[in-house]
Amino acid sequence: MILDGHVPAGPLEQKWDRHRNELALVNPANKRKFHIIVVGTGLAGASAAASLAELGYQVSAFCFHDSPRRAHSIAAQGGINAAKNYQNDGDSVWRLFYDTIKGGDFRSREANVYRLAQVSVNIIDQCVAQGVPFAREYGGLLANRSFGGAQVSRTFYARGQTGQQLLLGAYSALCRQIGLGQVKMYPRTEMLDLVVVEGHAKGIITRNLRTGEIQRHAADAVVLATGGYGNVFYLSTNAVNSNVTATYRAYKRGAFFANPCFTQIHPTCIPVSGDHQSKLTLMSESLRNDGRVWVPKKKGDTRPPDQIPEEERDYFLERMYPSYGNLAPRDIASRAAKRVCDEGRGVGPGGLGVYLDFSDAIRRLGIEVVRERYGNLFDMYREITDEDPYKVPMRIYPAVHYTMGGLWVDYNLMSNLPGLFVIGEANFSDHGANRLGASALMQGLADGYFILPYTIGDYLARSKQPRPDVDRPEFRDAEAAVRASIERLFGINGKHPVDVFHRELGKLLWDHCGMSRSEASLRHALQEIPKIRERFWKEARVTGGPEEINQALERAGRVADFLEFAELMCLDALERRESCGGHFREEFQTEDGEAQRDDENFCHVAAWEYRGPGEPPVRHIEPLRFEFVKLTTRSYK
Ligand SMILES: Cc1cc2nc3c(=O)[nH]c(=O)nc-3n(C[C@H](O)[C@H](O)[C@H](O)COP(=O)(O)OP(=O)(O)OC[C@H]3O[C@@H](n4cnc5c(N)ncnc54)[C@H](O)[C@@H]3O)c2cc1C
Repeated sequence: MILDGHVPAGPLEQKWDRHRNELALVNPANKRKFHIIVVGTGLAGASAAASLAELGYQVSAFCFHDSPRRAHSIAAQGGINAAKNYQNDGDSVWRLFYDTIKGGDFRSREANVYRLAQVSVNIIDQCVAQGVPFAREYGGLLANRSFGGAQVSRTFYARGQTGQQLLLGAYSALCRQIGLGQVKMYPRTEMLDLVVVEGHAKGIITRNLRTGEIQRHAADAVVLATGGYGNVFYLSTNAVNSNVTATYRAYKRGAFFANPCFTQIHPTCIPVSGDHQSKLTLMSESLRNDGRVWVPKKKGDTRPPDQIPEEERDYFLERMYPSYGNLAPRDIASRAAKRVCDEGRGVGPGGLGVYLDFSDAIRRLGIEVVRERYGNLFDMYREITDEDPYKVPMRIYPAVHYTMGGLWVDYNLMSNLPGLFVIGEANFSDHGANRLGASALMQGLADGYFILPYTIGDYLARSKQPRPDVDRPEFRDAEAAVRASIERLFGINGKHPVDVFHRELGKLLWDHCGMSRSEASLRHALQEIPKIRERFWKEARVTGGPEEINQALERAGRVADFLEFAELMCLDALERRESCGGHFREEFQTEDGEAQRDDENFCHVAAWEYRGPGEPPVRHIEPLRFEFVKLTTRSYK
């Protein structure tokens, strides 16, 4: 099947405005008759639920946290991009659009990315109006810093807590609507299935995580804002509870899963320190503005960094990518770090680390300026490693961070299932094969504040599907399926906690479908995943009962989904016989080790259709057309 992204015709700069003028409207008096379910209250979900309620729709919002404001979005450190050109350094909507398209290795839709760059400027205004305390220059203007993959300063930030501050803004807007009765909030509630009625997404099945109660919820449309699936790797920078369940179960109900193999590996994380860890910690990319990345020139040099003289250091990013230097994009910087460590020049225990050194910056700017810019990140590093980054260089190594894949959506952010909208990290759109730093927050808020509120109205105005009754057989069947899968998990009664299988899966994926993949490694993973899955269903143990707070049960359901989803990821990676962005296939590289794209055969989105248990999924494509930019080989040299 050739998928249609429903990109409007006309000049790039005018597509969104023209489209908005053509979208059908729901009149204000009718809006309150429509009920919308929003699953997830991170930046994407909270901004969407608040905006939809503000427009007059009735909204039910769900999250598995005890409070909407505890979503993983709160962890975002570095900043949010916007093409404001406050710095007068040559930025523009076009340049943000171009950097994003190029950063994603020409694997995203032109029209979506252009719209994202256009609305980026509105996001900042919206957030400032909400009181988000962005950093400011002495004169009071909003400050900017630069981020990887860009030669301009366009990143707005609130020290190292940008996600937290943005979420407080969106959360306040959401709370206002909860207070007004326009949003009914369901915290500590997990969506466990999607209900499809006559081909349209019309409801969800949830479990109350405090009481275990299984509930049916019907609506006129369903929005998934449930975040990414990076935790399939077990170790990642994501919050421990982030998972794939909502999107994977929607996939099993007919929504296509796009580009699942596109994972972003972030170059600046604190290296793994042992078997005890359940997550990894990110050191914001903004640190690369002033920190210089290096390793010793000599293999196996174990001298402390201050005893390695300048001429025996390899500032490898500055050497390999002189134009962008330490601000090379994440996929490029991660692979460069892997390469020097593979050569035996890595630092720290196990040799899986490179230095991020601030001594030059401290000499140049003074310690107070460095503290002002990065103080809380330095404190966090010291607490975790017991090393003082003001005195010794940080040690960093790449780690799984973000997933560009997600449910397929068209230009309206609607999946192939009518009535199912997917926003934020949960959808596949806008970042292509690699996401530039500070662009996820931009996309989540663009979707929630400025795109979905328009496009969902068009579906509601045109759809003739009434809101179904929860007594319909589709709801009964979905609820029965949820109950059966919970019973099945308790029925295993094996010896091992589910984390054992998750950890094993994660290691397999990191080694075989991680920073680089090959046909052989992917075939190996595809052989091994079913074996882990089989053992899981024989040997796992879920303690406690179904009608109480039971985190073992919550985890078990999520691990069961990861164990199936991992196979889809590897299959997708195997079928994409090219290297692009975060997807580096060892067979497809240039002589100097850069990714080699195959535009002739793979300039498309791959979207997978579920065909039932044990059946191979079917791969569909959406061809990507580049009318306004030329496909060029990515170079940051
Ligand atoms: C450490 C770190 C730092 C980052 N820094 C930056 C940065 O500086 N700039 C940037 O642009 N990006 C950054 N990112 C990426 C960015 O934070 C995320 O991509 C973004 O916050 C995702 O937002 P979201 O709303 O899509 O999902 P999330 O914030 O992950 O929210 C998901 C929501 O869905 C709910 N949920 C999930 N599944 C279910 C279910 N089955 N039932 C009910 N509820 C469910 C959760 O409760 C939660 O409310 C960072 C990421 C990490 C890990």
